[in-house]
Amino acid sequence: MKILIATDMEGVTGVTTWEQVTPGHAEYARFRKQMTEDVNAAIRGASDAGADEVIVADGHWNGSNILIEDLDPRARLNTGSPSPFSMMQGIDESIDGVIFVGYHARNGSPNAILDHTWSSRTVANVWLNDILTGEYGLNAAVAGHFGVPVIMVSGDQTACAQVTEVLGDVETAIVKQASSRFAAECLSPQVTQEMICLCAERAVVRLAQGDIPEPFVLDVPIAVTVEFFSSDMADRATRIPFTKREGTRVSITMQEMASAYNGFRAMVMLASG
Ligand SMILES: [Zn+2]
Repeated sequence: MKILIATDMEGVTGVTTWEQVTPGHAEYARFRKQMTEDVNAAIRGASDAGADEVIVADGHWNGSNILIEDLDPRARLNTGSPSPFSMMQGIDESIDGVIFVGYHARNGSPNAILDHTWSSRTVANVWLNDILTGEYGLNAAVAGHFGVPVIMVSGDQTACAQVTEVLGDVETAIVKQASSRFAAECLSPQVTQEMICLCAERAVVRLAQGDIPEPFVLDVPIAVTVEFFSSDMADRATRIPFTKREGTRVSITMQEMASAYNGFRAMVMLASG
């Protein structure tokens, strides 16, 4: 059994502010350690349930947040950027299941810590075909491209609800109850690590029993539509051939999800200037 743990930082235990997830701020050092511990809890749970290979993708910011010296030695770490599959680096047909750790809700969500979609300064909304989604949907669709299901998510209550809405009944570890974009009632790391560990264990057991929702596979062709915050961003994104524009919305249509993911990332990189 081979598991990919795809991580982000906004949904990590105790995080409520941008400073806590932004390199260069004093608080960041505390929370990259906390991120590492949330990930370790998932590695422990997955391994206890029989996973013999665990790969971790560091998916926040520049992909250099997890402290490798503190990482459970049973896992290997994909770190640094840009990598071919970004937040999903390590995904391929050999992976049996994906665990999301530290995930956050899509931009515009109420009661959601640091809600955004890929870039908080650039992207207002993203649709995959007609499905309004966040990073969780993009990343789950990349897993689906390889026939791999997402089996668990950790984050605040809104992130977990958005993931189960699109993917079905996956395991959820709610580490905090958000009451605004920057406020939440947070559980202690002692409690959340136990929760994440048990949740990962249950998810891998269910995966082995065939009791987990199907991989997230989109109808082809796949249209990725990005609504940008301003028209100059859309101006730059439309320099990519074969894009279509309507107002601040730019879409690109591809025959399969790996290319659609590349198209999405290229649009956002250009738009961000
Ligand atoms: Zn992030």
